[in-house]
Amino acid sequence: MNFETLGLRTELLRAMTSLGFQTPMPIQAQAIPTLLSGKKDFVGLAQTGTGKTAAFGLPLIQHIDQTLARPQAVIMCPTRELCLQITNDLKQFARHLKKVHIAAVYGGASIAMQIAQLKKGAQIIVATPGRLLDLINRKAVKLAQVAYAVLDEADEMLNMGFQEDIDQILSNIRGHRHIWLFSATMPKGVAKIARQYLSDPEYVTVGKPNSSPKNIQHRCYVIHEKNRYLGLKRLIDFAPEMFGLVFCRTRQETRDVAEALLQDGYQAEALHGDLSQSQRDYVMRKFRQKSIHILVATDVAARGLDVDNITHVIHYNLPGEAEIYTHRSGRTARAGKAGCSIALINKKEIRRVRELEYKRNLRFEFCKIPNGRSICEKQLASLMDRIVQTDVNHTEINEYLPAVYAKLADIDKEELIKRFVSAEFNRFLTDYHHAEDINVKNDPKRKAPFKSEKKIRPRRKKTQRFSINVGRRDNINPGAIVRMICDNSGIRSNLIGAIDLNHKSSFFEVAQSAVAQVRNSVRNATLDGRHVQVREVFADKRYQRSASRY
Ligand code: ADP
Ligand code: MG
Repeated sequence: MNFETLGLRTELLRAMTSLGFQTPMPIQAQAIPTLLSGKKDFVGLAQTGTGKTAAFGLPLIQHIDQTLARPQAVIMCPTRELCLQITNDLKQFARHLKKVHIAAVYGGASIAMQIAQLKKGAQIIVATPGRLLDLINRKAVKLAQVAYAVLDEADEMLNMGFQEDIDQILSNIRGHRHIWLFSATMPKGVAKIARQYLSDPEYVTVGKPNSSPKNIQHRCYVIHEKNRYLGLKRLIDFAPEMFGLVFCRTRQETRDVAEALLQDGYQAEALHGDLSQSQRDYVMRKFRQKSIHILVATDVAARGLDVDNITHVIHYNLPGEAEIYTHRSGRTARAGKAGCSIALINKKEIRRVRELEYKRNLRFEFCKIPNGRSICEKQLASLMDRIVQTDVNHTEINEYLPAVYAKLADIDKEELIKRFVSAEFNRFLTDYHHAEDINVKNDPKRKAPFKSEKKIRPRRKKTQRFSINVGRRDNINPGAIVRMICDNSGIRSNLIGAIDLNHKSSFFEVAQSAVAQVRNSVRNATLDGRHVQVREVFADKRYQRSASRY
């Protein structure tokens, strides 16, 4: 098998040769002929590193009409880094086709400059979904002439909360074009997208798809502003195995936090724009080798940072844009591992967490900063684990032992254990002796700041109101209610109107056209694993169908 037999044009074959690609990888061999035919929607499942970029990139380039200077294909992918990577790969593939233009658009960078780039006549757009939607809404990108849409790393995009954005983009282009979906795993969400938006796709699976999709847990901790650093410290102490990335907003903050951590005895370093390239490389090398456990970074400096095994991403301060939150948290849970994204917020910022949940379709778990006792217990358990697991080098250590035994001869075993533990552990006992609770107390009389979604979801005229027996007390947010309704009924979220959250119950509005569907589907609905009761509410109390439980 070689590239010639796949039907690729000579310029592309020449590029393969100069890139040193001799034989097509399995996904390429199976996908390229189908995709070149341009007649089918496509689902390709293959693990990372199996050559998916060329599998869709080569046919895509071949389909481009070089004489037309307008968008003909879009590729959606989860992160800025991937976006740049794919763009770069495609440019390599198209190196002998001088009139093929490829543009990358992604969040966190100047939109004006990207618009200018697009205006130069890009035919292939590689984009993160949020930014693409933004560009569509600003009418800076017209999908009218787009014949192919590629979803790369579809599972990852869903993990990162792009579901709604993708839905919106795809519902814009459904019907007239071909969609090619690539993914390493096939979780329910991806299968649903394939069902909903692809028509009679051809499926190709290479190898065994990665079994578990990316697993990021989002948590937030509410602290008083003055306790931000203290909160960080406690979270670090509570996770003795942490290999973490702490994000700050500014260089100064990055420096301050890293310095404070160093002074407090942590293996931490700062990564920010004021460092020279060689200083940066040095810090990155130390982090990769795990001789530092905590890297404190600005968003800009951490761009393109590809380190596996990061266990925690901590948002010392939340970023200004939702999309950046997604990029940040995507640094953890790589290569099929689990990870945790933690936001430290003050009370005023709860609202921003709610917005993030809504915009990114995420769920945060509101957690309490652990108290001194549980931190000490955790550290002690970790110390014991390390001692139990320590390899003893019998031959080397033997010659030193007689002196050690002589010195410790008068101390009995129990006392000895106490002293060994204390030698390592006293710092925590001192730090956490009488440590106060720094969690912000809930004041039940005050309403949570994120009252309703009125601003985002305009009230509709012809709607039916429903009630549901969960509310703020249950840590429910409007996004969760929208998801519950959409998941159960299959209706699109834009048919749901205003949502009002009360303490124990909530109300939502549904467009008349979708009422029957909602009514029939929420009978056995569950939210976060518990059964909920949904009832229709009528304006006049006398007509309220109190007996009708759905
Ligand atoms: P995926 O998207 O499936 O994770 P990539 O498309 O990024 O994988 O490809 C992984 C690596 O394999 C890249 O470094 C790419 O240059 C290389 N590669 C892709 N196709 C071939 C090929 N046919 N022969 C040799 N190397 C290839
Ligand atoms: Mg890829």
